[in-house]
Amino acid sequence: MSGTTVADARGVSVFTQSYLDIVKQRDPNQPEFIQAVQEVVASLEPVLDRHPEYRDQRIIERILEPERVIQFRVPWQADDGTVHVNRGFRVGFNSAIGPYKGGLRFHPSVTLSILKFLAFEQIFKNSLTGQPIGGGKGGSDFDPRGRSNAEVMRFCQSFMTELFRHVGHNTDVPAGDIGVGGREIGYLFGQYKRITNTFTGVLTGRSPGWGGSLLRPEATGYGAVYFAAEMAQKAGMSLEGMRCLVSGSGNVAQYACRKLIEMGAKPITLSDSSGWIYDPDGIDEEKLAFVMELKNERRGRIAEYAQHFSGAHWSPTESTADHHAMWCVEADAAFPSATQNEINVTDAEHLIEAGVKLVSEGANMPTTPDAQDTLVDAGVLLGPGKAANAGGVAVSALEMAQASQRQRWSSEEVDRQLRGIMCEIHGACLSAAESYGFGNDYRHGANIAGFRKVANAMIDQGLV
Ligand code: NDP
Repeated sequence: MSGTTVADARGVSVFTQSYLDIVKQRDPNQPEFIQAVQEVVASLEPVLDRHPEYRDQRIIERILEPERVIQFRVPWQADDGTVHVNRGFRVGFNSAIGPYKGGLRFHPSVTLSILKFLAFEQIFKNSLTGQPIGGGKGGSDFDPRGRSNAEVMRFCQSFMTELFRHVGHNTDVPAGDIGVGGREIGYLFGQYKRITNTFTGVLTGRSPGWGGSLLRPEATGYGAVYFAAEMAQKAGMSLEGMRCLVSGSGNVAQYACRKLIEMGAKPITLSDSSGWIYDPDGIDEEKLAFVMELKNERRGRIAEYAQHFSGAHWSPTESTADHHAMWCVEADAAFPSATQNEINVTDAEHLIEAGVKLVSEGANMPTTPDAQDTLVDAGVLLGPGKAANAGGVAVSALEMAQASQRQRWSSEEVDRQLRGIMCEIHGACLSAAESYGFGNDYRHGANIAGFRKVANAMIDQGLV
């Protein structure tokens, strides 16, 4: 591989391009995966220069190829008797530092490309947590929205009837993601237990009543705010009083809002796939309780927020990837917490104009690479998803530890560990970025710190 840093017109170095060529040749139809690879490999040239053993052992070439990919048919029956067929996947990307760990996503947009990008990101995120977990991801193009509980249960049972043979508490431990919350984890676990005749920690995100960790639902959103607090403090700022744009209204967005409120910040937006709301007075605990009941119990639309609370505005959109006007609202910080590629270059320019000084990515890859460059070049502090949203998987690892010890820690204890882990991830990102000449660019720091631990483990374990 070339060690030169010369970049082409799009800012992609020859080094990065040489690896992109490999991936594009093998998987030309996987744009999200290619995007995630570009984002990580762009940080690694100085690492390979300092550690020639990674080049000799072809660590990047090996890390770009998943250890295994499983695809299967998921047939199920709707309440009206019609038969449906969805596609199920599980990607085991890298198990150098522990069993595959990563969520399951149920959303009509799910493809192998999206799951490979998510599993690839998960390798480095999991490494950053300091916990012994490898990278994986899975899911289905099934859409749980508008489906009855009975339909979701039948789907989950059919999905697990194939998945069970590929997962296990020492092999691969799935969790939730978009469209997979406590309800789905319950149905999936029930079927796994029934088929295997075992009660193990095969899934995380379980209810605390039957083996789940306290604070797991809160962990990703809380963690993204803790990471933002660390970035702010390091830059001589504080989250207190900051007006915050939050996108999404699911698990991550809800708990990011709660922690922001607790820390004296003021969340002012939320969104879903049909639109976004702006509440200039701020979303307080009472309004958040309304959102949680709306989204988690009634599974309704965020538009109802604006009907319920005077002073709030609702704007319709075709999809989250289309709610660009939201990023024009004047604010101090942004927490994109819906889905990938929700902030493009134009949005990034709007965020800068709107006064945003800090972006903490609650979602995975919510900001396109050129939008990230725009933000960082303008001096905006950017916490990349693989670091900022690692709190969820970190507490999943704590759930695995509690399950294997048959213990249950208090929520104060889990929160203390979560905060400590986020603080350590922040420090690891900064010191890796500085050490390899990337200043305070958290993106490079996260990639390098996450990569090195996995690369070293791969070398230790030989050519497997
Ligand atoms: P949820 O399903 O709980 O919520 C997702 C929210 O985003 C919903 O408001 C949903 O709208 C909206 N949304 C998602 N995808 C789309 C889309 N393609 N088009 C339009 N709207 C969309 O998911 P989570 O909160 O768990 O996950 C949000 C993000 O955070 C994802 O990127 C996920 O990978 C990431 N993440 C989650 C972790 C976790 O612990 N849950 C851990 C780390 C990262 P609607 O209500 O209309 O469906």
